[in-house]
Amino acid sequence: MGTTVPLWWWTLLAGVIGLAVGSFWTVVVWRWPRGESVVAPRSHCTGCERTLHTHELVPVASWLWQRGRCRGCGSGIHWRYPAIEAATALLSAGAIAAFGPTLTGLAAALLGMVLVPVVVIDLEYQLIPDVIVVPAAVVGLALGIAAHPGRWWVPVLAALGAGGFLFVIWLVFPAGMGLGDAKFAVLMGAVLGLSVIPAMGIAFAAGALLGIALIARRGASARKIAVPFGPFLAAGAVVGLMWGPAIVNWYTSRLA
Ligand SMILES: [Zn+2]
Repeated sequence: MGTTVPLWWWTLLAGVIGLAVGSFWTVVVWRWPRGESVVAPRSHCTGCERTLHTHELVPVASWLWQRGRCRGCGSGIHWRYPAIEAATALLSAGAIAAFGPTLTGLAAALLGMVLVPVVVIDLEYQLIPDVIVVPAAVVGLALGIAAHPGRWWVPVLAALGAGGFLFVIWLVFPAGMGLGDAKFAVLMGAVLGLSVIPAMGIAFAAGALLGIALIARRGASARKIAVPFGPFLAAGAVVGLMWGPAIVNWYTSRLA
């Protein structure tokens, strides 16, 4: 990865790749929970079943151009499609802008892109798809180790620690945590290293705040509301990526 190519070019490239991946995610978040193939058939309108043309599949732009409507039947296309594409592109580009075209940047872009379908599917179905998270965790760990081979144990311990921590919570309190959350935490630890500690702190603090707010509004019956934890983990992951090292440095300097 050359040093002559300016950072903005890598950032733009990461954004374009993010748009393409985001476009694939819009297919995955619809078809995966329904047990349909993500490869075939080609994308079609869920209103009129018409197969979409290539120019109707340009991420974000097609939706804006068609003003959120199918060109065949005029039925509305949900705003979540361009939102998923835009979010994936922003997280991918943001990771490369922050870390450069490095192995660390690649790992950060991977985590950023993967958390989009995790959040969408978890919000809708209270599920975290193994088929996305497990391969991402393996690749994330390999990138984390390769980025700093001399300190290979940092991503390994962070992945085992974060995953193990949520695994124990799942064992003790299976209603509040899924095994998918623990696998996603392995990916977070692999990519974030030490920053997974503030990331987890933020995820649990945000989850506790929402829990208190729900109980305040709806009383004790709020305890029975199932709240997916994936979105909180994802929020913690983004904060950990962007500000994790600063938080860890601040904390360790106060100890010294
Ligand atoms: Zn249609």
